[in-house]
Amino acid sequence: MTKTFYIKTMGCQMNEYDSDFLAQSMIHHGLFPVDEPEDADLVLINTCIVRAKPEQKALSFLGRMSAFKKRKPGLILGLVGCLAQKDGASLLKRFPQLDLVMGPRELSSIQEVLGRIDSDRQRVVATRLEPGPPRPIHTLGYFEGRIKAHLSIMEGCNNFCSYCIVPHVRGREVSRSPDEILDEARALISEGVRDITLLGQNVNSYFREEGGRWTFSSLLREIGKLEGLWRLRFTTSHPKDLSDELIRRFGDISNLCPHLHLPFQAGSNRILKGMKRGYTRERYLELTAKLKEVRPDISITSDVMVGFPGESRADFELTLDLIRQVEFDSLFSFKYSDRKGTLAEKMPEKIDEPEKTARLNTLQHLQRQITFKKNRELEGKQVEVLVEGQSKKNKMLTGRTPSNKIVNFTSNNGKFGILVKVLIKDGLLNSLRGDALKNG
Ligand code: SF4
Repeated sequence: MTKTFYIKTMGCQMNEYDSDFLAQSMIHHGLFPVDEPEDADLVLINTCIVRAKPEQKALSFLGRMSAFKKRKPGLILGLVGCLAQKDGASLLKRFPQLDLVMGPRELSSIQEVLGRIDSDRQRVVATRLEPGPPRPIHTLGYFEGRIKAHLSIMEGCNNFCSYCIVPHVRGREVSRSPDEILDEARALISEGVRDITLLGQNVNSYFREEGGRWTFSSLLREIGKLEGLWRLRFTTSHPKDLSDELIRRFGDISNLCPHLHLPFQAGSNRILKGMKRGYTRERYLELTAKLKEVRPDISITSDVMVGFPGESRADFELTLDLIRQVEFDSLFSFKYSDRKGTLAEKMPEKIDEPEKTARLNTLQHLQRQITFKKNRELEGKQVEVLVEGQSKKNKMLTGRTPSNKIVNFTSNNGKFGILVKVLIKDGLLNSLRGDALKNG
């Protein structure tokens, strides 16, 4: 009888959200979480394949657990998430120790499937891409003590950017029922969560006809009204779905945080066309200018890729130029890598690895200067911090500003989950440091 479980989570916030759902489901069925996979009766590996590196990491961890299972044959070993969806049944052949391969859209049937594995040691593959039944919400105190949480409002993506594997493994866009979302938000708030991030691969294309037309903008309004919700955030947005109406929400929803993650990916129109991103550099610059007009204190972060097939030096210079113009608060930057089954995989003029590395280094060097400068500009300023806990490094308290910057600070009041005013003394590369004000 399976008693304990361990979940290894890799990849994006959506995977973290899925792992939280799996953990709640296990606890609801009487299982206990353990900190080490070796101490578990059930190990689930929640995987990511957005680039070659995370896919390798998932396979090597699976290899390690398969070897361990030879010494613990009763262990149930499962692989879930995007690698499970991409490779499906072939993984059972490659890894004879594997009992379960389950895609992201099948997670709501996890207990039924585990029942089958537990009772007659079946090996199961569940990778349908059609939308599954709604997931039962079992909070059961799971979020107590947590100040912030994710809440998925939709899944899948219809964009098929030419380099991206996500639409192939996460399926078509499905927006959840607004009632279900509002219920889950209320449940999180009732457990003490004060900062909620709405999730979707393409969160701002949320749309649902249910007792009227629900757009992302109207959903934000409703969630923003919830009693006890201090901070509302969302990710990941697509520039093509960033309407003027949505931009206006940053000016009229008081608890909507002044932070937007808006991937631009490249600064050259020729490359943006090859990527099938659906906007131009001019349009992207127009959007960021409108955001700063509506909310001057807004922090804009983004994703950028170097070395897309055919990317010339001139194209790359246009990427650097866009970064200088927008001045992002921070950037997630990556080297292009082929993903099997994508359009870009078949494109000619691949950029060699050393050149990709050189471009990435140049770009990251530029962005570090911008991030550092923007953090230095906050020295001597007061910011409001939602206290999340104690910094592991220096025992100072730690938390985030509304614009999602990490602040480590000294304070006489060690309470978590409260809002305090902090005077910033040092703007560092990836965080801010300061002292809580007496009457903080
Ligand atoms: S919008 Fe593009 S990059 Fe983002 S998940 Fe969809 S296909 Fe991938």
